[in-house]
Amino acid sequence: MHPAQPSKHETMETQIVIIGVGGAGLAAAVAATEKGADVILLEKRRALGGNSAMAEGLFAAGSSVQKRMKIDVRADELFKIAMNYAHWQLDARLLRAYINKSADTIQWLEDKGLKFGIYPYYPNQFPFVWHCLKSGDTVKRGGFEIIKALVKDCEGLGVLLFRETGAKKLMTDRKGHVTGVVAVTRGKELRITARSVIIATGGYGGNKELLRKYYPYYNENMVLKGVPNKGDGLLMATEIGAATEGLGILHLAGNSPRGAFDLHVVAEEPNTLWVNKKGERFVDEAISFQHFESTNALVRQPDGVGYTLLDERIKQNMIEKGVIKGLGLKALPGTKLTDLGKELELAAEKDKDWIKIAKSWDEIAQWMGAQPEVLKATIDEYNAYCEQGYDEIFAKDRRYLDALRTPPYYALKYHARYLGTIGGIKINHHMEVLDQEDNPIPGLYAAGIDTGGWESDTYCVRLAGTTFGFAINSGRIAGENAAKYVEGGRLS
Ligand SMILES: Cc1cc2nc3c(=O)[nH]c(=O)nc-3n(C[C@H](O)[C@H](O)[C@H](O)COP(=O)(O)OP(=O)(O)OC[C@H]3O[C@@H](n4cnc5c(N)ncnc54)[C@H](O)[C@@H]3O)c2cc1C
Repeated sequence: MHPAQPSKHETMETQIVIIGVGGAGLAAAVAATEKGADVILLEKRRALGGNSAMAEGLFAAGSSVQKRMKIDVRADELFKIAMNYAHWQLDARLLRAYINKSADTIQWLEDKGLKFGIYPYYPNQFPFVWHCLKSGDTVKRGGFEIIKALVKDCEGLGVLLFRETGAKKLMTDRKGHVTGVVAVTRGKELRITARSVIIATGGYGGNKELLRKYYPYYNENMVLKGVPNKGDGLLMATEIGAATEGLGILHLAGNSPRGAFDLHVVAEEPNTLWVNKKGERFVDEAISFQHFESTNALVRQPDGVGYTLLDERIKQNMIEKGVIKGLGLKALPGTKLTDLGKELELAAEKDKDWIKIAKSWDEIAQWMGAQPEVLKATIDEYNAYCEQGYDEIFAKDRRYLDALRTPPYYALKYHARYLGTIGGIKINHHMEVLDQEDNPIPGLYAAGIDTGGWESDTYCVRLAGTTFGFAINSGRIAGENAAKYVEGGRLS
């Protein structure tokens, strides 16, 4: 990879321009270059990797790792799980192309020196599909290392990569074929002519206008934990006539309180009690094992606000016995939150609007702005369900029914956390961008979370690692097909 900036050039020429240096863009660049194409990669920011650098694991079915671990995972089964979860409202061929590629992609990455292990995303997950990196006996975050390995490959393969170079516009000829990209680098315009362009700009999670337009539950308090991508790819593609698919899907990912990481863990523990700002319970808290789904319940609440309530006994159990669900690889089930007492007290001092510690539920209700009698009724009802071992409203698993009777009581306020968007540009299973008549726009491909048709309104956690997985796999497929296209080959 050449570290050069295109400062001396105002026009350049190559075979394929790839917009965005996240997982999808990098996988596309390596795959296309391995097939012999010349590639220029453009990255708007200085840092490389986008959201992909933060991912922990990626999905695969039937990989060499699963085979080594004697995990029986069948592509057919996973395909059906995902299609049924989405009520068949997806592009089945696109999803299948992704799933079918996924095992080979793990091998492709292992051939680059990465070693994978598999970890259940939630207890009792079956089958195991979440490929994280393995170091000795520990499993660790994969995103950053995968990005590093792909950037290194780009270096070796002679890919030109320009940082701080944001694509602004796609160029087309009179027939509507894509002919290149106009970009801006350090205030200067750069025109790159190319036979093919691959869009991989990572969605519109940081574009409030688009979020308001497409996501019905959007509220300004929602917390984006990823890179604030602006939807550049979507806007550029639709400007030249691309169709859209799957707009308005957020990659929701749980409750986002303020303060130390441990408080984020506490806010999603299944044996706590969750209420909205009126003091009413709104969800089976044990759904937090699939926090992509529990967040759907949260965003429907007034102002998208929720509160996790617990008492001193539950807190002590988290410290002494460990957490039940935890949060990602950083807090696996059983992790003891040894500093939790201090962290809660500190946060209650510092973030008075976000955490309350009180001797009575009335005090907590007043702090929340709820009617004390409503909160009291909620607590009494919940405690009664805990005592009888049956939750008459939400049928929460009785293992997580834990009465709240030991003061002091704790309340953590939160909004929804999301990691980005999913969906936007309509593509087919070759990752070709489609126009309004469902015909490919010649030369134009898209990959990663800029695209739609492979995920329904909610992240399907049975295919844990599916967004990062789709980024890498769709990137590879797009890169291979763009390389074929520039050589004049047919896509099969
Ligand atoms: C904290 C966190 C943890 C996550 N964990 C997981 C996980 O464990 N498993 C999983 O499946 N998913 C996970 N995800 C989601 C997953 O990382 C993403 O959905 C996926 O990696 C997106 O890949 P992408 O290549 O499409 O986009 P990105 O990786 O975001 O890359 C897009 C790139 O395009 C650049 N760009 C944008 N506009 C332009 C432009 N105009 N010109 C040039 N460049 C541009 C951006 O700066 C960025 O570098 C996580 C996300 C976050 C934030």
